[in-house]
Amino acid sequence: MSNRKVRVRFAPSPTGALHMGGVRTALFNYLFAKKHGGDFLLRIEDTDQTRFVEGAEEYIMESLEWCGIKVDEGIREGGAFGPYRQSERREIYKKYADQLIESGHAYYAFDTAEELGALRQKGEENKETFTYNNATRVELNNSLKLTKQEVDAKLNAGESYVIRFKMPVNHEVKMNDIIRGNVNVNTDTLDDKVLFKSDGLPTYHLANIVDDHLMEISHVIRGEEWLPSMPLHVLLYEALGWVDTMPEFAHLPLLLKPTGNGKLSKRDGDKLGFPVFPLFWKAPNGDTASGYREEGYFADAFVNLLALLGWNPGTEQEIFTMEELIAAFSLDRVTKSGSKFDPKKAEWYNHQYMALKTDAEITNLFIVELKEKGIEVEVALVEKVVGMVKERAVFVKDIWEQSSFFFETPTEYDEKVVKKRWKENTPAQMTAIKEVLAGVPNFNAANAKQAVSDYIEKNEWGFGAIMNALRLCIVGAGKGPDLFDIIEMIGQEETVLRIEKAVSVIKK
Ligand code: GLU
Repeated sequence: MSNRKVRVRFAPSPTGALHMGGVRTALFNYLFAKKHGGDFLLRIEDTDQTRFVEGAEEYIMESLEWCGIKVDEGIREGGAFGPYRQSERREIYKKYADQLIESGHAYYAFDTAEELGALRQKGEENKETFTYNNATRVELNNSLKLTKQEVDAKLNAGESYVIRFKMPVNHEVKMNDIIRGNVNVNTDTLDDKVLFKSDGLPTYHLANIVDDHLMEISHVIRGEEWLPSMPLHVLLYEALGWVDTMPEFAHLPLLLKPTGNGKLSKRDGDKLGFPVFPLFWKAPNGDTASGYREEGYFADAFVNLLALLGWNPGTEQEIFTMEELIAAFSLDRVTKSGSKFDPKKAEWYNHQYMALKTDAEITNLFIVELKEKGIEVEVALVEKVVGMVKERAVFVKDIWEQSSFFFETPTEYDEKVVKKRWKENTPAQMTAIKEVLAGVPNFNAANAKQAVSDYIEKNEWGFGAIMNALRLCIVGAGKGPDLFDIIEMIGQEETVLRIEKAVSVIKK
């Protein structure tokens, strides 16, 4: 790496919700920047006004914020290289388009949409694809074909035009990608891309290059889908005379569907049974899509799992804090091939983070859910419950399912358990056990257990059978943590009430 100050940018177009692959791109840029003491910029690429979606910018910023990806320069943060929204930079680009025309690297094209449509149609009829390129351009309605006078006349008359890049003929573009190594492409396979549109705005290609140059971007780290644009971008740097400060490129592998069959796309929405977006999204047309945050993922688990998609530390370590990721990250360890997204592994990550978080942290989150259910309990008690059931939960929302019996008397009794555990003499036995429990002084788990065990022994009952039936009375099911811990926590009075209720409600 050169000694240049590291400056990278995440440059999304605000065309809708940010896909998780986009978040990963932002994350890799951020990790790289922070690893090298550099800057992370957020630039909004909104020159295609037809694709602008209301709310998308805010969504992007909120997603980064949720993930703990801090923006050094951006539309909200400002910075010395602003503005950071391309639509606010429109005056900047024209001059570079003009410069390219003057130096012979670009040309005016006056072809109308109808003319181009007809050419495409004709191509299809002959089973060919029409391309505006170095072979066809000489015959088309542009400043390469027309005389200077004709061109001036059209421009003076205010005729609509675009500016296209004049792709060199049969030239080998030699490129280097940090992840993919050397890549060569012959210009005869490329078309004459539009750089400047008839609406007075640049296209992505021109705006992106101009801004990367002016914002002194040192490394372009972006998705593999932009690899085909790289030859044009390199040629633009050459044509504009900016080769010396051209950024280095790194194209990240695609995120693939769990089957490995094709890329994980925005359109997959919720179809695959897991979210493809970081946050819940509601589009202006009312369409909604689920998000990792609302599904109950911890932000740090989400960041951790994304980091390991297409990058590996070269060790067995799988759990990383953001600081650890920054320290361990390097583009050398980013893979070339696409990485399959595994929703089970994503859950595994959340489960690991659940275990890593303190009971107090989880309690704070769980209390919010309890409040929504109208349950107000002492924090210390909730924390105790959380400590008991946490390891069985992937998400905070699972904790309720694992622990509702701590907070409310069962209203139902698991039928399968009833069938198996509730015998004819059970009601009488439970009533006797209830009396025993009601008489325990210094009511706690140990004393309750001692009293119940002694009583069972004295009557020569089966310990297992009694305990299973008692669990059914207290929990309403056959599962849950240690029964006497539960009994201690709900207290003597509630224990007695639950047994009474079960005895009167459970019918065989
Ligand atoms: N605006 C492009 C996008 O939406 C940016 C691609 C790049 O990083 O050059 O992904």
